Amino acid sequence: MIIQLTKNIKADDRNLIHEKVNGLGYKTTEVTTQNCAYLIGIGKKELDLRELGGMPGVADIHKVSDAYKLVSRKWKVHPTTIDLGDGVKISEGDFAIMAGPCSIESEEQIVSVLEHLKANGVKIMRGGVYKPRSSPYAFRGLGVDGLKIWYQHAQEFGIKIITEVMQSSQIEDLCKYSDILQVGARNSQNFNLLDALGEVDKPVMLKRGISGSLDELLQCAEYVFSGGNEKLLLCERGIRSYETAYRNTFDLNAIPILKEKTHLPVIADPSHGIGLRAYVEPMALASVMAGADGVIFETHAHPEKAFSDAQQTLNFAESSTLIKKLRATVDLRKSF
Ligand code: PEP
Ligand code: MN
Repeated sequence: MIIQLTKNIKADDRNLIHEKVNGLGYKTTEVTTQNCAYLIGIGKKELDLRELGGMPGVADIHKVSDAYKLVSRKWKVHPTTIDLGDGVKISEGDFAIMAGPCSIESEEQIVSVLEHLKANGVKIMRGGVYKPRSSPYAFRGLGVDGLKIWYQHAQEFGIKIITEVMQSSQIEDLCKYSDILQVGARNSQNFNLLDALGEVDKPVMLKRGISGSLDELLQCAEYVFSGGNEKLLLCERGIRSYETAYRNTFDLNAIPILKEKTHLPVIADPSHGIGLRAYVEPMALASVMAGADGVIFETHAHPEKAFSDAQQTLNFAESSTLIKKLRATVDLRKSF
């Protein structure tokens, strides 16, 4: 159960609500986000919402029986819009295209990608400065020095940036010099990191864990939301399966299911999803038809020279084609 509390609720009224809900056999937890105060009731007993709905201090009340509550679509009439400022929004009505290299490598590379995105009207650039790599000897990112240079150029181009946060100690710098923080598949269930991200006023995109279920992904989002930060996006990036013909099993099914279960925007990552350059385009277009609110993909001026994920990175000509086809597919979807 979710009870939305009124803005200036009196302490006595709050206590009475807790007592009443506890008396009905529900355990209560209060959640205060940057937006609103909520009381979450966990329990299984049948209840009549009218008993609570009329109490002073109750703004609204909703039955949500899933393990996740605040990220559930069941209580929120309107889906969430992530507003990055300067007219850049991500929501059901504002399809987001985010593109860029796997890793930020150099100033020259940053500028080449920004020019490519600007020429194609793309408003959000992706790139990692902290890279989770399977081998400790692989390129692990330029860190905060690279981030500062990237952010400065991106601002000059009027382009927002999304980059991965790997641990809590990086949050402060990343909040200063980026627009969306990405939690990677390997950190999906790093609950201390998720708690810390609940305290920041910055959008967070949570990727599905390498073998994470959708329910687990939604509960990870619940960590951040209940920690105070409602600005969340979810990302399907493929899961590990027994199939070896491609890098990951891109779970297209996840997109409509997540859209049904949550009010948060759902982003598709076909680059990591299939891991093969030739098939990033069809999987990206398929994600649009499956209902995604945005696509994130990897591009580089010279994919063969990319420091990471070269095999799944599009060159600029392929990227421009994909961007055009994505827009046409979004229009097609709207016309249905
Ligand atoms: C990335 O976006 O480059 C990345 C490492 O993604 P994932 O966490 O999905 O593997
Ligand atoms: Mn990558």
